[in-house]
Amino acid sequence: MKKIAFTGGKGGTGKSTIAILNAIELLKEKKRIILCDCDVECPNDYLLLDQKLKKAEQNIYAEYPKLDKSKCTLCGKCQKACRSNAIFQAPGQFPVFIKELCSSCGVCWNVCPQKAIQPEKEKIGEIFVNKVKKNFWLITGVVRPGVEETGPAVAKTKKFALSFAKKQKVDFILFDTAAGTHCPVIAALIGSDLAMAVTEPTPMGAHDLKLVLELCQKLKIPFKVILNQSDLGDKSKILEIVKEFKTKIEKEIPYSKKIVELYSKGSLLDY
Ligand code: SF4
Ligand code: SF4
Repeated sequence: MKKIAFTGGKGGTGKSTIAILNAIELLKEKKRIILCDCDVECPNDYLLLDQKLKKAEQNIYAEYPKLDKSKCTLCGKCQKACRSNAIFQAPGQFPVFIKELCSSCGVCWNVCPQKAIQPEKEKIGEIFVNKVKKNFWLITGVVRPGVEETGPAVAKTKKFALSFAKKQKVDFILFDTAAGTHCPVIAALIGSDLAMAVTEPTPMGAHDLKLVLELCQKLKIPFKVILNQSDLGDKSKILEIVKEFKTKIEKEIPYSKKIVELYSKGSLLDY
């Protein structure tokens, strides 16, 4: 099973569209495919494929610290150990946990010498499965509004998708990542055999492409560059970057009114 991530740094470059069009091409070659939407804060692949997210297949939980004040000696070790700055502790006061900043890493309940912190499970999202076509499944992770640290939810969605992929004996699993180079994108990229970096011929497209290629290098993931809407801007900066990273533009996709129309109707499958 090949694991391919569609990413690109900048939002709006057409990652989801390109991921879906690739899935369609692979279906034409009679491959079995899973598309896993890892953009858990605002997944959109189901909309582009005219699907509905009805009944969740699995819940996504996160663990957050809960303090037992009767055991806490105010030593401050948890606050010092938290790399997310999710613990505030005023002098002589109990630590306060800021859930919005907490990544559920577990460091605080492990460093507390008094075992005064216990993890408390909370539902933060859901995973959905849609059978889009014969041999084509869409797996979507969604977190509830207000969850700031979504990396763990992406990791759980991927874990579910990989296990589902094994059961279905698929040939390809395509991960559609969020935009950017932050934790949720890293979680989506890790373990991929190949990253397809989708960009556009704009200064921001070039800037963010460089960041995502640096990230792929750090994660030791081979990458290819796809230039979407290649005829709508100045691609000189993109060419400089691909040269710098000793690669090339794998594919140039010119602007297509047909794709835009199908995108807006949520019927990319008709492409
Ligand atoms: S590490 Fe434990 S004992 Fe120390 S301040 Fe934090 S909760 Fe209290
Ligand atoms: S679980 Fe991790 S991120 Fe959350 S408060 Fe504890 S140390 Fe900080």
